[in-house]
Amino acid sequence: MEIEKYEVPSSNEIDIAEALRINSLREASQQPISDPDSWLDEEIRRNVLLTTVDYVLDWARSRSIFPLMFGLACCAFEMIGTATSRFDIARFGMDIFRWSPRQADLMIVAGTLTWKMAPAVKLIYEQMAEPKWVIAMGACAISGGTFRESYSVVPGINRIIPVDVYVPGCPPRPEGLIHGIRKIHEKIYKQSVQKALADRKAELGQKVSSLKDIGRVGGR
Ligand code: SF4
Repeated sequence: MEIEKYEVPSSNEIDIAEALRINSLREASQQPISDPDSWLDEEIRRNVLLTTVDYVLDWARSRSIFPLMFGLACCAFEMIGTATSRFDIARFGMDIFRWSPRQADLMIVAGTLTWKMAPAVKLIYEQMAEPKWVIAMGACAISGGTFRESYSVVPGINRIIPVDVYVPGCPPRPEGLIHGIRKIHEKIYKQSVQKALADRKAELGQKVSSLKDIGRVGGR
């Protein structure tokens, strides 16, 4: 049997082979390999916006107001007209009138409010989700209108609940109500979660300190 013979390279030849490999790698590595995630930079530039929490919340709230399904008298027909295709309040993301006050954050008081009806309207307002807004639509809701001197009519809805925007007229046209809604949007844009939290904290702080005062007085 014939045994195959191998030439054992000298240490000099091993050194030369190694140097050749190193030189060849060095020549092929003159430029850095491009970042496999570099496409992300461009995507991020095109898709990421930096803004404040206040701005995003105010924008979302102003574009998702849910009005309460609620009308008291003739002005209500103009309010209903505002939701039809000609005036189309769906443009503002508020075409869904809610039946439940817990799912609504805008009360449009459209019509004459009687004292008999007043407790129900106040209760509905109190059941609405926070933050909430109120529009007094028409002369009757604003001041009692023609029936102001009547024994049975509330001379202005602001006697029982706070009003954010007044829309005058008898009745106001849908364009007037839409103008009032835009004014509500402006109010929403001026809100600040940070400020609301700070106010709440200050309010709670005052309550705690007054409780401590009561405790001190009681302890004497
Ligand atoms: S303001 Fe005029 S239209 Fe509106 S509820 Fe009163 S009377 Fe009717």
